[in-house]
Amino acid sequence: MSPERNGGIADLGILVRAAWSLDRYRVMAQMGLSAMSGVLGGAGLVLLVPIVNSVAGDTDEMTVPLFGSIGIARWPLAGLLGLFVGLVSVQALISRTSALNSARLQQRVVDRLRHRAFEAILSARWSFVLGMRRSDIVQVVTAGASRSGMAVNQVMTGTVSLVLALATAAVALVVAPLVGSVAVVLVVIMAVLQSTGVRPASRLGRQFSERSRSLQAVITDSLDSLRLVRAHDASGIWVERLADAFTSTREVQIANTERMSTIAALSSVGMAVALSSLVLGATWAGVAPASIVVMVVLVSRLTGQVRSVVSTVTQLANSLPAVGDISTLTQAAIDQREAPAGDAGRTGPLTTDPGVPIVEFRDVTFRYPTMPQSGGGGGRAGGGGVHDLSFTVRRGEITALAGPSGAGKSTTADLVLGLLTPDSGTLLVGGAELTAADLSWWRRRVAYVPQETVLLPGTLRDNLVWSSGLPVVDDDLLAALEQAAAEFVADLPDGLDTVLGERGLRLSGGERQRVAIARALLRRPELLVLDEATSSLDDETEAIVLETLTGLTPAVTVLVIAHRRSTLDLADHVVRIESGRRVTMPGSS
Ligand code: ADP
Repeated sequence: MSPERNGGIADLGILVRAAWSLDRYRVMAQMGLSAMSGVLGGAGLVLLVPIVNSVAGDTDEMTVPLFGSIGIARWPLAGLLGLFVGLVSVQALISRTSALNSARLQQRVVDRLRHRAFEAILSARWSFVLGMRRSDIVQVVTAGASRSGMAVNQVMTGTVSLVLALATAAVALVVAPLVGSVAVVLVVIMAVLQSTGVRPASRLGRQFSERSRSLQAVITDSLDSLRLVRAHDASGIWVERLADAFTSTREVQIANTERMSTIAALSSVGMAVALSSLVLGATWAGVAPASIVVMVVLVSRLTGQVRSVVSTVTQLANSLPAVGDISTLTQAAIDQREAPAGDAGRTGPLTTDPGVPIVEFRDVTFRYPTMPQSGGGGGRAGGGGVHDLSFTVRRGEITALAGPSGAGKSTTADLVLGLLTPDSGTLLVGGAELTAADLSWWRRRVAYVPQETVLLPGTLRDNLVWSSGLPVVDDDLLAALEQAAAEFVADLPDGLDTVLGERGLRLSGGERQRVAIARALLRRPELLVLDEATSSLDDETEAIVLETLTGLTPAVTVLVIAHRRSTLDLADHVVRIESGRRVTMPGSS
């Protein structure tokens, strides 16, 4: 999404390839329909000439080039008018079909771009996702993708207008070579003048992309911090920021519209002047009046088509940066794919040797990269992480990671989960190094309870089963809830079918944590990783959950990040970390 990127042609290629590979028949049908609609519209206009002649009762003297040869000029007025209405009706029908076809194609391309981007982001390395602003992803994948859809339409409209313009120019040259040549030269000069707007439109399009991302960031950040903003009665500041972001986005939009309308206005006037001079010149040169009328019709058509080509190219230049944004994001995510496709990883059990630790860190170092401090809270200063960390998580035991805030405990958990990869040192699981190809195999054996429990809008049942990866029945759900000390479920209005989240029931922090623990247990993990997962529980509930954890061993191995004495006392083994390094305390092994 670099603003310096100048890949208009490349972006165009991406768009055309996407549309073509999705539904080439629809693309061809669309071009055909637009061309037919254009030709019929033109024919309807040219038909006005014999109609006018017929009204004037002047059919004998005037012959109409092209139409004269099939005798239409001598048709009765009613016949000509009937033909005119017929042509317009067919054209209207074609236009309708074409609009529908185009909308379908456009939507399919948008969906494809969105789908590819989202899929790539979801499969990308965690460190890559960490480095992205969430709001940028949302903006690019929603509004940006819709803008890309508009570009699909513009490519097709532009191409058809170009073909029609060339056809009209050819007809004009055949009908009246001299006047036609002058007309074509004039139209080309106009087109060149109008096309000076293409480059600024592209620049404005890139600016629009950037400002839309900033706007999205302000909106997301203000919503994320709503509780704090309200509690501190500081909404005024966010309203101001939002107003600034709106203004700057609007300014770019208006600047673009202003430019386009100025060009359109100037070219209309320019064309009127050129057309008048042409008629004057042709009259002086003694060109037959019928030819002049046909010329006027053809030249106005030609100018209209050329104007449509230039204006669509200008609009396209303005929308293509959105295609660039989404394709750059997708490609970057694909390049950062977590597990290279096709690599066969480990299969089978973790290890058959009960003495082998489930997890072993050997001098593991991981440093967060220094990221740009972009507005909106996505970037963070680098330097944090863990350094030369060695410890083992022994099978069937509870291992606790302890240490002050910022010590590197969550980073260690992310390394264990294979979300982050060591910069140096070795991370072994079941006695062998954990490689990218093993990640999917490894994650089927692990369950994780994060600090912040996210409940999705949906029923309690939906929330419990979505990550289980195994077939589960109600008895399993109830057993997991009981293990997680979440009997409060029995009091919910609809039990497992109670709707939670957004418009449903809100659970307290402690209740949410217990649901998250039950969800993790349903995966029947070999290793359960809990990140401060009992922090929101009161002492009594925490004691029940801790008892559960103890009860899970030795079938399940537990790695728990904890502050509280109660959890640390329970652990078989405490690994203390400070400033990313292990510190040995008396009594810890
Ligand atoms: P803990 O879980 O012990 O509180 P963390 O593992 O979250 O500590 O963080 C360890 C260090 O790494 C801290 O200095 C923190 O600022 C840094 N850090 C954590 N996450 C990121 C990130 N996404 N980008 C950059 N630095 C980070």
